[in-house]
Amino acid sequence: MDKDQKILVVGSANTDMVIRVDEFPSAGQTLMGHSFLLNPGGKGANQAVAAARLGGQVAMIARLGNDLFGNQTIENFRKEGLNVDGVVLDNKLPSGVAQIVVEKSGENTIVVAGGANQALNTRQVNKYYNLLQESEVILLQLEIPLDTVLYVAKKATSLGKKVILNPAPASKLPNELYSNIYAITPNETETKFLTGTKITGEESAQHAANYFHDKGVKVVVITLGVAGAFLSTPNFAGTLPTLEVEAVDTTAAGDTFNGALAAGLSKGMNWQEAVTFANKAAALSVTKHGAQASVPFLKDIQE
Ligand code: ATP
Repeated sequence: MDKDQKILVVGSANTDMVIRVDEFPSAGQTLMGHSFLLNPGGKGANQAVAAARLGGQVAMIARLGNDLFGNQTIENFRKEGLNVDGVVLDNKLPSGVAQIVVEKSGENTIVVAGGANQALNTRQVNKYYNLLQESEVILLQLEIPLDTVLYVAKKATSLGKKVILNPAPASKLPNELYSNIYAITPNETETKFLTGTKITGEESAQHAANYFHDKGVKVVVITLGVAGAFLSTPNFAGTLPTLEVEAVDTTAAGDTFNGALAAGLSKGMNWQEAVTFANKAAALSVTKHGAQASVPFLKDIQE
């Protein structure tokens, strides 16, 4: 019998459209770019794929358009081994897209049209409530309506599930959400935005963590880029280092971290073990280009 717990991601899925240019166009200008790439993306999808590649049993509740991108995305989810029972194709709205222009300097501009992601509502969650009931680790981000995030957090917490919120992209959160999540995983920028504390060392990290603890969050994981992650639980506080690697592209490092964290917990790791595992997975992801393309598999970590 399989003793691993199941993971549910309720979140966004986008298609990233990436064009490389020498320099950004000015308003009104038409510019010839060098290359075009179509990549699967969206924080929810990236984290679900990461959790699955790292050994998790993952279901996703997501909303796509009934269009070319939506059908490609669901195909990709199947290929990655996700349970797609809760993925709905919306007949009215288009799939979420992100238009990304990357300059020679490495700078980028990104415009996101959320499309069907913005219609992922509580009705859809209720329809696939069984997925919530049968999962123990619930992973959420903020690229779908906040009402839906809050609803899932409340229902899951009342069922005794472990809810992890990756508060990205940063936006102000109601106290009711904090009191209905088990863990929060902001990066340094999101931590500053949410708590007002700039992380300069362990003392400030603990100060920021206490802001979340005071609101009822049991476990705080602040990701610190090359410095790893600060973990604060009822019985541990400290920085867990990441691997020293040659970083070529940090896109989706945070998503890999969150997916890995969920996968580790679902396999019975404690928080210190799961954060260490997530650091390793995220470090490997920055050694490769791309978002989902850079997410490692379990065997890469074991090697
Ligand atoms: P991104 O937005 O680039 O996806 P993020 O800002 O959400 O990332 P970070 O705190 O920068 O999150 O990174 C997440 C995790 O990725 C870190 O906790 C660490 O484990 C790993 N990581 C990031 N950058 C590096 C690096 N240069 N070397 C090793 N590990 C890294």
